[in-house]
Order: sequence, then C-alpha cells, then structure tokens
Amino acid sequence: MVTSPQASATENLSTLTQDQSAALHGTPASRGIAFGRISFLKRQVAPAQKQIITDIAAEQERFEKARTQAIAQLGQLYDASLEKLGEQNAVVFQIHQMMLDDPDYVQQINSLIADESCNAEYAVDQVAARFAQIFENMDNDYMRGRAADVHDVSRRVIQILLQQKGISSPHQIKKYGNEPLILATDDLAPSETVQLDKEQVVGILTSAGSARSHTVIFARTMGIPAVISMGDPLNESLEGHLAIVDGASGTAYIDPGEELQRTYQERKRTEDALRARLEQFRGKETRTLSGRKIHLYANIGSADDIELVKAADAEGVGLFRSEYIYLYAKDYPDEESQFKIYREAAQALDGRKLIIRTMDIGADKTADYFMLKHEENPAMGMRAVRICLTHPEIFRTQLRALLRASAFGNIAIMFPMITSTDEVKGCLQVLQQAKEELRQEGIPFNENMETGIMIETPAAALISDELAPLVDFFSIGTNDLTQFTLAVDRQNAEVGRFLNPFHHAVIRLIKMTVENAHAHGIWVGVCGELAADEGFTHELISLGVDEISVAPSSVLMLRARISTLP
Ligand code: PEP
Ligand code: MG
Repeated sequence: MVTSPQASATENLSTLTQDQSAALHGTPASRGIAFGRISFLKRQVAPAQKQIITDIAAEQERFEKARTQAIAQLGQLYDASLEKLGEQNAVVFQIHQMMLDDPDYVQQINSLIADESCNAEYAVDQVAARFAQIFENMDNDYMRGRAADVHDVSRRVIQILLQQKGISSPHQIKKYGNEPLILATDDLAPSETVQLDKEQVVGILTSAGSARSHTVIFARTMGIPAVISMGDPLNESLEGHLAIVDGASGTAYIDPGEELQRTYQERKRTEDALRARLEQFRGKETRTLSGRKIHLYANIGSADDIELVKAADAEGVGLFRSEYIYLYAKDYPDEESQFKIYREAAQALDGRKLIIRTMDIGADKTADYFMLKHEENPAMGMRAVRICLTHPEIFRTQLRALLRASAFGNIAIMFPMITSTDEVKGCLQVLQQAKEELRQEGIPFNENMETGIMIETPAAALISDELAPLVDFFSIGTNDLTQFTLAVDRQNAEVGRFLNPFHHAVIRLIKMTVENAHAHGIWVGVCGELAADEGFTHELISLGVDEISVAPSSVLMLRARISTLP
C-alpha cells in the first residue's frame, strides 16, 4: 500500500498536542512548515456596481479595450512565471488568455451591456458569476477547480475598467517589520499566488478554496506551505498573531508555545535541508551519469492523487490502482462513472502517461457487493483477472470506460495477477470485443493504447518470454512477487521478517523478466515498494529496468539517486 504523505504527517502530530496554542485545521494543500505573522490580504476591490449607461457602443468599446489589455497583461504574467514555475504551470495564464477570447464569454458580456444598458464592470461580473457557476456544477473535480480561474480572469478585466475611471484597487498586505508573513485570505487567485513575494510570504492560509485550484498547484510548485478550506475560524481577529503552518497535516498553530516552536523548528531544519537538495532535480529528466534515461512515474490510488503526482514532478502515473474505485463504491461502479474518473485523471495529467491497472479486487481488497465466498487463502484465491475472466460483464464495463477515456489523454492499461498466456489472451479478447463495440457505436478511443501486464507471480516471471510477445510492456509488482516466490503472506505481520524482496530468488525472477522483455523489444518497469528503496536503485538500474514507479513523495529522492549512478 502507498501511504500518503499527509497521512503520515497527521500521525506524527499526535505527539504535539500538549501545547497551549490553538490549532486550526483545514485541508492540506502544500507541504512544508512555515513560521510567521498572520497578515490578511486586503483586496479593496471596488464592487462592480450596476450603472445605467446611454452609449452602448462606447461601453462595449470600453470592455473591448480592457479585455485586450488584460490579455496583454496575462502574456507578461506568462513570461514572468515561466522561470518561476516552469512551462507546465505557467500555461494557466495562456488558458486565461483563451478564456478571455472565448466567443461565448465575450458575446454574453456584450449582450448584457446592450440588453440592460449597464456598465461593462457590472456585465463582466455577472457573466463571470454565470460561467463560474457552470464550472462549479460540473461533476468533474478538475473542471470545478476552473471556477477560480474564471473569477481571477474576470477580476482582472474589472480592475482595468475601474482604473480607467480612476478607481484603483491595490492589494495590501500589512507588514510587521521584516518578519515573515503568513498570508491569510478567503481564497487566493492564481495570479495573486504567482505574484507573491516568496521572501516575505512564507505560508498561505485560506478559509475557502479548492484542492484542485491552480493556487494550490502553484503554492506547491513555489514551495510555499499552504492550508486551505479552514472555514470561519480563520478570521481577521487573528491579524498579527504568530503562527506555525504545517502544510502536510493541514494545521495552523496560533500563538505557539516555546516547546511547540522548538519542535517545529527542528523539523523544519531537517525538511528544508532535504528539500533544498532535492529541489535541484525538479523539472529535470531522470538520467544516470552515463545519460541513460529512466522513466520515473508515481503510484496512485485515486484520481485525487494526480495533484500529488504533478507536485512531485513525476513523469506520469505508473500504477493507478483502479480497484479503489470499486472499494469506495456501494455497488458495481457503472461505465459512465468510471469513464469520468479515468478521463478526469487523464486530462489532469496533461498528456503525461497514465497507466491504469484493471481492478485487483480480492485478497485484502474486497467489496461486499462482489459477494466473494470466504476463502482460506484469498491472496491465492478469487482475485484480479480471475474475477474478470469469470465475470466478463464486470470486466467489459471497466474496459469500455478505460477505452473511452483513452481518447482524452495518454492512457495505458495493464492486467494484474497474470500467471499464464491463456489469461492474457482472455483479457485481450474481452478488450478486443469492447473495442469492436465502441467502433460500432462510433465512440472514439485510442486505437494504439498500450496494453501491458503485471509480473507479480513467479509463474509470470518464469514464462515472461512467452508473455512478452502478447503485450507492449511489463510492470513488475515486487510486493506480490516476493510474497508468492517466498511463500510468505504479505498481510501476516508475524512472518514479516521473512518477506525479503532482496532474496536472490526474487532478484533472479526480476532479471529474467527484464531480459525476456528486452529480447522481445518491450519495456519493463517496477511498481512494487522495492522500487522506492534507494539502497536498491543501483541494482534495479543495473538489471536493465526502464521505468520505476513509486509513491509521489519518493520521486525527487529517486531522481537524485539515479543521477549519481553510472
Ligand atoms: C505489487 O504486488 O507489487 C503491486 C504493485 O501491486 P499491489 O501492491 O497493489 O498488490
Ligand atoms: Mg500486486
């Protein structure tokens, strides 16, 4: 299992609760620890009040000028952010430019000015609210996060319009000498976040905000600890108070006592030193000293983790454990709901690879509605492709959803718990049928979607030469491969010390798998926990592994490690 960084940080906190300070809780948004004085952002934006105008054409012209000016400002912001945040993040300002060019948006504003003989500021404000509402009502988290972008971009136009009338609307942050500041506000727009002075603002707290907003992504990229959705307890009575922000646990300690400050200072020193070392590897390719490229991906259990993947600077997702979708559902998730989850994940990855493993239900991961019988040895029982091939209708639903989503991003799929060529052929046959159905229904999908299998049973490793011609890639699941090779139950703590992934038998199977993959011209990765063991990276790379997929929190650490290997 992948443990999320948030979970482990929250556990650690239980030791710190004796302090007298008040602890406010919110949603963890950007990891890290910050010390500073709380300063509320005063926007002083004059409200876009309705006024009746007489010259409609002139008002539309005013709007047009402001729109053009806003587009130019966004271009400058894009250039400035390129260096700070990198192309993949700065692109949001190009998206903002596109929003301002959206014919529907522009036309609705012009119509409102004409229909209600109203001022341009008011029309922009109204239409922005309409568009934001549409985004907020979408059932796709990613799109919901775009509501903040509509507000941001519209606020820019309104400010320009007001400036034309001589009404300026400066942002003010109260300073406390040279003390570092914790910026507090209801919500922070992407353009506000990117313009923060990192020397001065060391942490962010917001009472509202979405974990999917660009604000959060930027805060992560800029390395500013942030907690969002703190609700009413974050109010202006806290102005000027000292605070510690713990971005990983989503906590802000107000007026922390000395002991708490010491504990956090110690933690911050350790984290800062490590982060500074690892940050040098952000945005870089993962290569060995000799220049060999290794694909470094991340493992996730839910589409929500995609933001972690991006913040971790992984090249993509090497293992999306899709069974969690089934575990969280009360009944078999239908094609449409699965399609939306996969599509959302693929879109959020912006073209980066997303390898989705078909469900590995069974063993330790069961859902009541599957009505699996009690088994003495569920890890070796009815699980994964065994269920899928026994109940092809369940499998077909997932495959159709995956195929449909493949039209929206760089999706690959892989089948878990393979032991024979017949199983692979069986899976491919259902996949083929699903493709044929979609073709007949005229529903688009990626005809060239890569298909792979997990090598996580000794049988699969031993016949990897027979399996390789059937697929595009292998991903070695060392967790199960170790359990089955050594006959040690990975769930049984009592035999935990016998579960040795470094056992020569396991290593030989990995070696054999890599050799057979390469002999047949396919790539091979490792996605079990062993892949995150820094002490073993050299061996894995020497064995010839092409891809490594680990928890997001391990990505930069491994990139750093790989860069030191021959
Ligand atoms: C594995 O077995 O190594 C693996 C990656 O899959 P899981 O841990 O989900 O069984
Ligand atoms: Mg497994």
